[in-house]
Amino acid sequence: MTSHALGIEQMGWQRCQQILALARAIRNRCHRLPTLDRSVALAFFEPSTRTRMSFELAACTLGCRVMTFSASGSSIEKGESTADTIRTLDAMGFDAIIIRHSASGAADYAARFVHTAAIINAGDGCHEHPTQALLDVLTLLDVLGSIEGRRVAIVGDLLHSRVFRSDIALLRMFGAQIGVCAPPLLMPHLLRDDIERLPDAASAMAWADAVIVLRLQRERMSSGLVPSFADYRRRYSIRYEHLDATRAIICHPGPVNADVELDAALIEHERSMIQRQVTNGVMVRMALLIETLAPDCVEQILSL
Ligand code: ASP
Repeated sequence: MTSHALGIEQMGWQRCQQILALARAIRNRCHRLPTLDRSVALAFFEPSTRTRMSFELAACTLGCRVMTFSASGSSIEKGESTADTIRTLDAMGFDAIIIRHSASGAADYAARFVHTAAIINAGDGCHEHPTQALLDVLTLLDVLGSIEGRRVAIVGDLLHSRVFRSDIALLRMFGAQIGVCAPPLLMPHLLRDDIERLPDAASAMAWADAVIVLRLQRERMSSGLVPSFADYRRRYSIRYEHLDATRAIICHPGPVNADVELDAALIEHERSMIQRQVTNGVMVRMALLIETLAPDCVEQILSL
């Protein structure tokens, strides 16, 4: 059966654990990496730097044939639908289609139109971004040692964030205590009662072992959801002076709106894990590609 990677719940705890274990094994380089005789399409209907380059590097390092589809310059401009594009890539014989799309649910939707290709969600609208959650958790495990019982605060534009949805699903599987902090109109409804509501960035920093800062998603925002950037910054931005009251580490999936959700001076601060997250992203994506495209290699890599 084709094993799609559409979201954290769909992938399940065991598979996520296995991907993290594989990512660590790959990073330790205690074995030779397999060469995958597979074809991978990067179907990016929405802009991306980190995720696209990271998947591309991961697939090339594993010896895959990698081709990139971008909506601009394709038949999308002649009115071709997403479904037809996916059907076409599947019929060409790609083994995996890595999809990034502005529509929430696009990856699940794409999975309906393939016979053989595995669909990998590289971020769909406000819905999910599973590899970002996996690399976030790998980074937290690296630095904190364990996640169970640790306090992880997620601060920023939670409403429009697919990273938020994937992160809370995976952090919960790992037994983290989750805190949230966002302006009222950027706070999702129907959050579970066991999630701590934190009134501002200063309290989130003081409460947490780790803070995941999320970008204000201006491209998904109808106007007027925050009174002004100055107002947002005053209350919800993670600032240099917050460091004194906490030992919390700082993560951000990027791209950062510097001096909006996070002080520019914190981006390269020793408490910031942003570059480590990027590096871990390549490991996690290599692990996911091996696990999806060459499951027979998994046991061997893990046993070394
Ligand atoms: N890069 C992440 C994403 O694609 C976060 C962001 O764009 O704010 O969702």
